[in-house]
Amino acid sequence: LAKVVEDGLDKPAATRDNQRIHIHLNAGLSADTSIAVNKGVDGVGLYRTEVPFLLQRSFPSEEEQTHQYQSILSTYRDKPVVMRTLDIGGDKPLPYLAIEEDNPFLGWRGIRFTLDHPEIFLIQVRAMLRASIGYSNMDILLPMISGIAELDESIALIERAYTEVAKVAQSKGQTLKRPRIGIMIEVPSILYQLPVLKGKVDFISVGSNDLTQYLLAVDRNNSRVAGVYDALHPAVLHALKHIIDTSQRLQLPVSVCGELAGDPIGALLLVGMGYRSLSMNTRNVAKIKYMLRHISLEEMEQLAQFALTATFADEVRDNTIAFVDGHG
Ligand code: PEP
Ligand code: MG
Repeated sequence: LAKVVEDGLDKPAATRDNQRIHIHLNAGLSADTSIAVNKGVDGVGLYRTEVPFLLQRSFPSEEEQTHQYQSILSTYRDKPVVMRTLDIGGDKPLPYLAIEEDNPFLGWRGIRFTLDHPEIFLIQVRAMLRASIGYSNMDILLPMISGIAELDESIALIERAYTEVAKVAQSKGQTLKRPRIGIMIEVPSILYQLPVLKGKVDFISVGSNDLTQYLLAVDRNNSRVAGVYDALHPAVLHALKHIIDTSQRLQLPVSVCGELAGDPIGALLLVGMGYRSLSMNTRNVAKIKYMLRHISLEEMEQLAQFALTATFADEVRDNTIAFVDGHG
């Protein structure tokens, strides 16, 4: 089977009837992104910059960060690389920065933390911009945006960093491309503000892990309530449908970078709903490409249609599995 799955891995992903689907990588370590094992992907859809921060003993300097970011931008020089600003807090505490809170997932994490520490945010964004000199493939993604004020504040800081780095670049005769800016759709409040994003951001990326956690009010890492955490819950599926429909109407580029995109059932349903860009861990790429290649878009649309009428997650799961099993 491994050989069958490997077959065609170098080719771009498409459904059986040749609807092109963009497959991107989720990464955080250079080992995840080695070009040799990731031939045939369309870029990096989520570079989790907190991973190198978690492995260090103290905050990496601007130089160190520039170096790290440069390495991934150059590896994927012809393809987009979506770099997410620091998403610490919640389940990702930094060893050298204690944050004690009763409800870490509802607390000081992601953009909330970095906007309260603009110096950390500015160092990181400057490092990203410096790393991007000479490349044109960098996008910046903001995590945990729950309202427009956070977005406006982040954009203002990015603009400030851009002006600083562009000035230095210009003095050396280099040009600095303006990065595309996007936000994670992972806090439910932002589902109701999607139209306001048009004109402010260049793209959105759906974080189904946190979206599920916050829609269902269930800690994504608590084994006691693991049975409640289900990305196929009808509420999550309807939220995902709302996002794709609205972004199509607004002509706002969208992709999904939560675990659901790399899950066989999830990928079929997402494509069936209308998503054309999925970002996943490297280990899921071959499997998802193989599956897409053997199923038509119309079949995926039917699976999604059924899923959106279901009352229970298990109905969705059973129906999709039965279809795939019937397919051999
Ligand atoms: C998500 O929440 O779905 C996501 C991709 O981000 P993370 O898992 O890093 O929180
Ligand atoms: Mg998240």
